[in-house]
Amino acid sequence: MIEARAIEVAIIGGGITGLTLALGLQKRNTNFHIYERAQSLREIGAGIGFTPNAERAMLALDPRIHEAFKSVASKNASDWFQWVDGFSGVNNDKDTVKEDLLFNMYLGERGFEGCHRAQFLKELVNHLPQGCVTFGACLDTIIDQGENERILLKFHNGTIAEADLVIGCDGIRSRVRQLILGENNPASYPAYTHKKAYRGLIPMEKALPALGESKVNTRLMHLGPDAHTLTFPVAGGKLMNVVAFVTDPGEWPYTEKLSAPAEKKSAIEGFSKFGGAVRTIMNLLPEDLDEWAIFDTYDHPASTYYHGRICIAGDAAHASSPHHGAGAGAGIEDVTVLATVIEVAQTTLLESPDKSRSGVLNAALATYNAVRLERSQWLVESSRILGEIYEWQYKPTGRDKKKCEEEVYWRSHKIWDYDIGQMLQETTEYYKQRVGA
Ligand SMILES: Cc1cc2nc3c(=O)[nH]c(=O)nc-3n(C[C@H](O)[C@H](O)[C@H](O)COP(=O)(O)OP(=O)(O)OC[C@H]3O[C@@H](n4cnc5c(N)ncnc54)[C@H](O)[C@@H]3O)c2cc1C
Repeated sequence: MIEARAIEVAIIGGGITGLTLALGLQKRNTNFHIYERAQSLREIGAGIGFTPNAERAMLALDPRIHEAFKSVASKNASDWFQWVDGFSGVNNDKDTVKEDLLFNMYLGERGFEGCHRAQFLKELVNHLPQGCVTFGACLDTIIDQGENERILLKFHNGTIAEADLVIGCDGIRSRVRQLILGENNPASYPAYTHKKAYRGLIPMEKALPALGESKVNTRLMHLGPDAHTLTFPVAGGKLMNVVAFVTDPGEWPYTEKLSAPAEKKSAIEGFSKFGGAVRTIMNLLPEDLDEWAIFDTYDHPASTYYHGRICIAGDAAHASSPHHGAGAGAGIEDVTVLATVIEVAQTTLLESPDKSRSGVLNAALATYNAVRLERSQWLVESSRILGEIYEWQYKPTGRDKKKCEEEVYWRSHKIWDYDIGQMLQETTEYYKQRVGA
């Protein structure tokens, strides 16, 4: 008789995906350990917004995650997300910050609130049990030692670890993705979307007098040709978050990094032909800016998110451009499915220890793959299209505001209205079919 044994999950990477997975597993009494290549858990000093579906996924995964977000989220003053003509201004008058409203969408009760990334991460970390993260652990390779044996993890510093399941939450340049799909497979690597973004936070005491109340305290997308800007309040309304995207026909010059210091004058130049509001925003940006290359996995999507007992989640699986503001939210949807199916698989193994351990865990990951692949890859594609719509480059919509509205409406609602309960029901049903079979 085989002895019943709980599952040990190795999480590679401690970003939003890895940490929310850890909390979801902890809530379901599943053992996990996080391996993080950095020396601490940290996030960049920028804003992030969560769509309504992401909030519902947080609640389903672990209400503590939702509480953590709400404790640092800034409410939008308006229940309407507004898309404005950032280019023309009103008659392109240099002295006015008024912009024509192109269209708006009702956000409802859970209304796409923003927060400061580092503040959210800190709240998540507060809930983690002591000693659950090994720092300086940069994954090199994974060895599957065979049926019912543990998987071996090897790190660049020469250390090794073992686990029953490995979940790569190691971001856009995921090593686990390379190991699953193959190092020579183009689908193992993200590609430059030929857009880059200047990101900055403007203190509200500067933004408010320059732009006025209605521009600084709610979510606004400023559209224009070959560039666009998103603004929303963060840090309890003390800061205005700015993400200013420009199309870049050239190549990203760095191979090792996706962000680099940038001069404020580049952002000012990039929007010099825009209306008064957008030009004012660029002038208010801090001097020490970073520019971020927008890479995604659209050109060569992954054909699968798992192999055996190893899988990828979050950006590691489906790195998306950020134009839907839904990449991290999609990672939280992923790990909600993973935590749910791992809990069920653990119950199977504890109740029926003579079942094939590898077979049960493989069925759990096959379930995750079946439930998540299509929707998350659609997000990658749709985010690309949205970026083009916002910069009047998408041929079917051009500069026609009615057509832009229709396109943005159905795409956004496909994300926002997603039924998380139904997703989890499908998860358990699919798993039962697999294990029964
Ligand atoms: C400009 C911009 C704006 C965005 N805005 C939004 C938004 O408003 N809303 C939204 O939902 N999403 C947004 N996103 C997307 C969001 O930032 C990402 O989807 C999310 O941060 C990905 O989290 P992750 O945990 O999957 O990956 P990451 O945050 O990249 O974390 C990966 C972790 O793995 C570690 N790691 C990497 N390799 C290894 C290894 N070999 N071994 C061990 N550890 C490793 C890294 O150090 C890191 O800690 C935006 C993205 C950009 C670029």
